[in-house]
Amino acid sequence: MKLGAVLCALAFVIAPGSAAAFCRSTSCAGECARDDNNCKSLGAPLYWPSLCVGFSLSNAGSANIAFAVFQDIAIRSIASWSSLACPKGEASIAFVASPAVSCHTAEYNLDGANANIILFQDSKWAYKSADNTLAKTTVTFDSVSGEILDADIEINHAYNEITTGDAKVGYDLQSILTHEFGHFIGLDHSLDFDATMNASYDPGTVELRTPEEDDIGGVCTIYPPGRAGTCNPAPHGGFSDACHLVAEESACALGRPGHDRHRQTGKAFACLTALALLRRCSLRRRTGSR
Ligand SMILES: [Zn+2]
Repeated sequence: MKLGAVLCALAFVIAPGSAAAFCRSTSCAGECARDDNNCKSLGAPLYWPSLCVGFSLSNAGSANIAFAVFQDIAIRSIASWSSLACPKGEASIAFVASPAVSCHTAEYNLDGANANIILFQDSKWAYKSADNTLAKTTVTFDSVSGEILDADIEINHAYNEITTGDAKVGYDLQSILTHEFGHFIGLDHSLDFDATMNASYDPGTVELRTPEEDDIGGVCTIYPPGRAGTCNPAPHGGFSDACHLVAEESACALGRPGHDRHRQTGKAFACLTALALLRRCSLRRRTGSR
């Protein structure tokens, strides 16, 4: 009904010294051609057409993290992508905190209201082929124009010890969310080892809490200063705090192409997979994967 191709960008390790520059996510799904920077060279680059984007926290929060802490960190993470300085002015993308939502599912409803949700998966990470994933951002887009229609971030708290403070840092929530918000706004992984959008994350560090030069270059390209448009933070189809669709058993794997009645849409999954220091071995045994 609504799905298009699905792509998972998994962590990879490239030797330091590789040519590097930011990559934009595109509508190309599956095995896409890539350039010297490992950026997809086919497909429409993804972007939010509005000058501002709304986002909502799942009001379920997490059983292990106070909602106020979740809220504070989420806002700090997304604020780090706001008002970035570009050579010719401020990047033309801002974010608006919408009310928390009762929906606890990453979904896109073509015919109705939506919410761009940030949520924890506390007890179960249901996705296949993503067993060692820290978080997953699902972006739904217009396959022709690249316009982003919806974006949802899920944090895998079921199998990872997420930390929120500056001491005894494990998998740092702010680092994870800042990286995921990069996907949320249309950035793909970068080979630049200093970039927040680099796919490698070292647990115990907080270096991904803010965008770096390479990331900022990406934002300035996608959302240049003075971009035409209006600020409309309402999700596509209007805001809703409730779920509409039955949760899907989706995976970080190739999906099927789709065509909606009025608009051909696609979906991209970008997964942050950490090099595991703190991962639970039981998960690996259970899934039988790496
Ligand atoms: Zn990522």
